[in-house]
Amino acid sequence: MDPKNITKEYTNGEVTIVWQSAKCIHSGNCARNNPDVFQPREKPWIKPEASSSEKIIETVNKCPSGALTYFLNKK
Ligand code: SF4
Repeated sequence: MDPKNITKEYTNGEVTIVWQSAKCIHSGNCARNNPDVFQPREKPWIKPEASSSEKIIETVNKCPSGALTYFLNKK
């Protein structure tokens, strides 16, 4: 596996954030829009418990590169 092309998933139980490293252009939009969840200097850098699912979805939809996507978890 190319270490520069990883896909990671982070879930709060309701929504799962998917991040594809190869697509990320490091614009910082996610961290600006939702700094409680997207913390590029931390590990793990996405903390899905830190805001509402609605806010997460809104932030993911603003990712300019398509690196962030999401799916709703099955209940
Ligand atoms: S908004 Fe998208 S492209 Fe920008 S840093 Fe976040 S994940 Fe990467």
